[in-house]
Amino acid sequence: MVVFKFGGTSVQDTEAMKQVLEIITPHRETGLILVSSAMAGVTNTLIELIHAVKAEDRATAETLLNALEERHTRVLDALTAKARDIASDALKAVFRDMRTLVKGSFLLGDCSPRVSDALLGSGELLSTALLHGLALQAGLSSHLMDARKLLVTDDRFGEAGVLWPETQAKVSAVLTPEPGIVYILQGFIGATVHGVATTLGRGGSDYSASLFGAAVQAQRIEIWTDVNGIMTTDPRKVPTARSIPVMTYAEAAELAFFGAKVVHPATIQPAVERGIPVLVKNTKNPSHPGTIVQAEAPLSGVRAIAGRQGVTLITVTSGRMLMAYGFLKKLFSIFDAFETSVDLVATSEVSVSMTINSCQDLDGLRQALESLGTVRIQPDMAILSLVGKDLWKDGKFLVETFAALQGIPVHLVSMGASEINVSLVLKAGDLD
Ligand code: ASP
Ligand code: MG
Repeated sequence: MVVFKFGGTSVQDTEAMKQVLEIITPHRETGLILVSSAMAGVTNTLIELIHAVKAEDRATAETLLNALEERHTRVLDALTAKARDIASDALKAVFRDMRTLVKGSFLLGDCSPRVSDALLGSGELLSTALLHGLALQAGLSSHLMDARKLLVTDDRFGEAGVLWPETQAKVSAVLTPEPGIVYILQGFIGATVHGVATTLGRGGSDYSASLFGAAVQAQRIEIWTDVNGIMTTDPRKVPTARSIPVMTYAEAAELAFFGAKVVHPATIQPAVERGIPVLVKNTKNPSHPGTIVQAEAPLSGVRAIAGRQGVTLITVTSGRMLMAYGFLKKLFSIFDAFETSVDLVATSEVSVSMTINSCQDLDGLRQALESLGTVRIQPDMAILSLVGKDLWKDGKFLVETFAALQGIPVHLVSMGASEINVSLVLKAGDLD
């Protein structure tokens, strides 16, 4: 089986949804799982709805519900006869449930996390109801499934954790590959063992797709979005950026960490563990080959360059470090106490430099660190990361990197920890 996942912009209206079906139809003989996000913007509207419910603002809640209903109902115009009835009934059922939840919350003057999660996940139920209708209309053997009956999670509403053995057992029992069959599933949503609806956190649909793919041991997972795969760098900053044909999971994970937001590393983890390739494709440009993310990729060298702003560099200098042990332990226990995660570290005999992304109490952290030595804090820094395979093996690479910097001051270099990432800390203004 092959899993196809479509993001919000890929299902934003009738035209987009038809395009989705055109993309999947040629592959139907392998047996398909189609995972969809909510229509673009719908999850945000649902968040507004939840805010309105919490603020007991009935008028706004009603306006938002009506707008959502109007937008989804418009897609029904593309349908006739039985397909239209089926999709229309499914839409109505979801809106009935949503209105019941909203009304109940107003009556109780309370919108609990479970109610808000049930509302938040409705967008995916709506988009998939429409896709199912369109698929039937197109003559596909479409089965509309309820992800809440397959994807089992804990009860951390809004950011639920997946219970894998339970999920795997359910998915593999229900989604059996059969030529011609298209299973349509919602991304982003699941339910607890007791059947209470949950969501996986914003952008969670890719994760759902990867979980479903892992559970059925799919041949591949295709993530369809609105860019030509993963790019060598941010095309808004560098117009000559190119898409990367093949890269490894590890490289994709490094890139995601540094802000290339195409696929999130946690998202592809279930696929990574089973060696399932993930293909990133563009719905608006389907003939473009996109990017394949897989365990191994040929060719060494720099695959991509990513940057991240908002970095703070902290340097602690102390004579006491010289030939002593236990210093780093003391140092990091302070970061631990301040619940602050350290990203890059470099040490010398008398000083340690490290970067953090944010800290709730930077002054408190500084004071605590001063018990260990002199502290220098440099805000407004940035990390420039070069990601690629075997960067160490080629001495030429380092020479070229520093030559390209043309004298831009580098405040910290971190290389080797992951073997596929060289990170340089620069002044924020030097990043672009
Ligand atoms: N619809 C959800 C969101 O916007 C999940 C997703 O699109 O992946 O966060
Ligand atoms: Mg989305």
